[in-house]
Amino acid sequence: MIAAVDSARLQTELTTLASFSESPAPAVTRVVFSDMDLRARDYLKTLLAEASLVVREDAVGNTFARWPGGMPSLPPVATGSHCDAIPNAGRFDGTVGVLGGLEAIRRLQRSGFQPRRSIDLVMFTSEEPTRFGIGCLGSRLLAAALQVSTGDTLKSDGRTLNEWRFAAGFSGPLSDVALPAGSYAAFVELHIEQGPILDRRRLDIGVVTAIAAPASVRIVVEGEGGHAGAVLMPDRHDAFLAAAEIALAVEAAARGTGALDTVATTGVCEVFPGAINSVPSRARLEVDVRDIDLARRDSVLAAIRRACEETAARRGVTVHVEPINADPPAQCAQSIVDVITAVCEAHGLRHIPMISRAYHDSLFMARIAPTGMIFIPCRNGVSHRPDEYSSPDAIARGTAVLADTLAALAE
Ligand SMILES: [Zn+2]
Repeated sequence: MIAAVDSARLQTELTTLASFSESPAPAVTRVVFSDMDLRARDYLKTLLAEASLVVREDAVGNTFARWPGGMPSLPPVATGSHCDAIPNAGRFDGTVGVLGGLEAIRRLQRSGFQPRRSIDLVMFTSEEPTRFGIGCLGSRLLAAALQVSTGDTLKSDGRTLNEWRFAAGFSGPLSDVALPAGSYAAFVELHIEQGPILDRRRLDIGVVTAIAAPASVRIVVEGEGGHAGAVLMPDRHDAFLAAAEIALAVEAAARGTGALDTVATTGVCEVFPGAINSVPSRARLEVDVRDIDLARRDSVLAAIRRACEETAARRGVTVHVEPINADPPAQCAQSIVDVITAVCEAHGLRHIPMISRAYHDSLFMARIAPTGMIFIPCRNGVSHRPDEYSSPDAIARGTAVLADTLAALAE
């Protein structure tokens, strides 16, 4: 089954796609709606045409390539991922799911398989937040999880999202992008793990059961500044020390759930005025909380808010907590998890169930379709770096599992 994947061709296509980059190889930089993004899209469309797929592009540039099934009135099954890359990234994040998805379809075509349901390959616009500051732009709009008015409010380099997409050739109202629930019978995304577990344990496939999602908050502490020599210790309302206590409470709240899948990070701490001889008058924290269980994640956020109130009262400072974003985590559909697992078993592949700690377009596709993800190992878990690497064999195995999964879901 793995031999039936044209691994050499897939590798050539990954190499060619990686050449559409604003940074020199091996680094890949391909920001949505840049010249390189548009050239990569043109290249992809030549491959889709060669495979006789019917291509549609929506108003934000999500690209759908359909292999029509024998019963086109049934909801199709879909696979896909993204082709954009953050600055100085590698060549496998996202692209393995697009070109691997295409090769999975070609493998089924070569084998003479006739799908009952149509099979769509989807290339999502702007999974990475580089240009517009928001991840999964295309899949968010597909799932109606983003106001269409953001077309005029999201900006990059002085141009709105609408101006960017019109210039890139994607017209029509953003409200046309959303797909109603039930549009797809299933969605399956092939992706590199972007973590070390599969590589470390020499496993072939991770069968994703849930996708964690971040909630982030900004916490501003207002205290009282003053001369570092003159203000007596009992009189102080040091904003940084209050923030430091809050940061420790963030850690305690995440550890307190007892679940390894709960993580919380205080990744930003700015202190004002930031002078060695001045008592901090203000501190700003940014905190990221993730879990695969929404209620548990929200309980951590609530614990952080309580700690803020308690610290404010005890230290005589004011604390403002402002949400930045809070996407709900997603559970993969058990029916799809079962199919992927059965395919792995049938071919003697070493596989484990796992959760996705990074978010993907699947996080939003799961809102409108039963969704699953297939992870393959990447060397040392490295991603978003030029030395990101998945072996040709790992990619071929993932592609083969995807092909058989699509066949099972579409027949
Ligand atoms: Zn990705």
